[in-house]
Amino acid sequence: MDSILDIVMARDPFEKEFHQAVTEVIESVKPVLDRNPEYRHAGIMERLIEPERVVQFRVPWMDDQGQVRVNRGFRVQMNSAIGPYKGGMRFHPSVNLSIMKFLAFEQVFKNALTTLPIGGGKGGSDFDPKGKSDNEVMRFCQSFMCELFRYLGPYTDVPAGDIGVGGREIGYLFGMYKKLKNEFSGVLTGKSLNWGGSLIRPEATGYGSVFFADEMLSTRKQSLKDKVCLVSGSGNVAQYTIEKLNHLGAKVLTLSDSSGYVYDEKGIDDAKLQYIMYLKNVKRGRIKEYAEKYPKAVYTAFDAGTDHNPLWNHKADCVFPSATQNEINAKDAQNLVNNGVYMVSEGANMPTMPDGIDIFLDNNILYAPGKAANAGGVAVSGLEMSQNSMRIRWSRQEVESRLKSIMQSIHASCLLASEEYGTPGNYVNGANIAGFIKVADSMMDQGI
Ligand code: GLU
Repeated sequence: MDSILDIVMARDPFEKEFHQAVTEVIESVKPVLDRNPEYRHAGIMERLIEPERVVQFRVPWMDDQGQVRVNRGFRVQMNSAIGPYKGGMRFHPSVNLSIMKFLAFEQVFKNALTTLPIGGGKGGSDFDPKGKSDNEVMRFCQSFMCELFRYLGPYTDVPAGDIGVGGREIGYLFGMYKKLKNEFSGVLTGKSLNWGGSLIRPEATGYGSVFFADEMLSTRKQSLKDKVCLVSGSGNVAQYTIEKLNHLGAKVLTLSDSSGYVYDEKGIDDAKLQYIMYLKNVKRGRIKEYAEKYPKAVYTAFDAGTDHNPLWNHKADCVFPSATQNEINAKDAQNLVNNGVYMVSEGANMPTMPDGIDIFLDNNILYAPGKAANAGGVAVSGLEMSQNSMRIRWSRQEVESRLKSIMQSIHASCLLASEEYGTPGNYVNGANIAGFIKVADSMMDQGI
């Protein structure tokens, strides 16, 4: 029989991000399949790589000049073995089916690791919210939901945010969903606090990735106190990563957007972070303006012609890639190793390219893949669903302590799986194996 990868390549020859995500999982779970042939007989891997359902749709909307524009919408319902499809929606010009499938595939394993009963899915559009007015974003979201609503439901599929989809977009999407379904259910997470959202949901991904980092460091009897850190991105994940790192006594030197990055030797303290939150979330400006406000910080524009990202070429102890996929290539990984970095916790999904991961692992770096380290976001989404179902709201402390114990449990299960299958401390294998076994066993229980 053809290998799984041959099947994926033959079926979808141009989906390179999806191939990348599938290849990594196949390599990790090979020893599991060798030890447990029943998974092969049941075709588990063949079934995992094929989404249960893919919806693609036209999203027409009118811009402020009265011109009709058309974007493409997607929802990939990847796997529902352990619960309703769950995963964010990304609005970004790069969105295509390959990116949706890679994200949905990662989400299946990530969600399994959270200990909560949620399956995996992902959606989005090639719509670019950057530079659009609030009214344009609202009209787009309403049109998007007019089609998507028929595939959603509290027991079917519960989307949330991702790149380009924050509180504003979730509000407009939810408003239209509610009109169309005439029901106020927990569909969509990341809702505002006034109408069913959970405390700590905005903070969850960033806080979670820092909690995971702390767990990894504790295996080497270290903590985050006084650690020098590089963070990429400047959206929701990066912002709360910086907040938690500051609280734990670490110092953060960098942040970025798609145009460039700032290096602030003095450290991005809480007051500067407040400015970033205003700049990004209220003014919707560019990170370049940080260096205008704090002239001691240096702004460098990204140059698409270079073979590396200069953000990753600074001396540091710990790194939190929190921007987007494939933002660390082999050269960047080598630069980080040369600069003394010994811990990487991924707030973004798949930010490190495969040969970059090899460099981290070969150099004994504590390296946490996104599907483990950034699972805090979807975990608190799961807790938002629980609170909605029970019609109650937990306190900040309650949600944060649940988040922390979920991250500790993910860390422990990754470590255990990595040991059981002969690669102790390899969190890539650990996350893939632990997530795979939970989903595979559930699929076996439910038949073909
Ligand atoms: N987009 C986030 C992720 O990549 C959160 C998904 C959710 O809350 O459902 O996991």
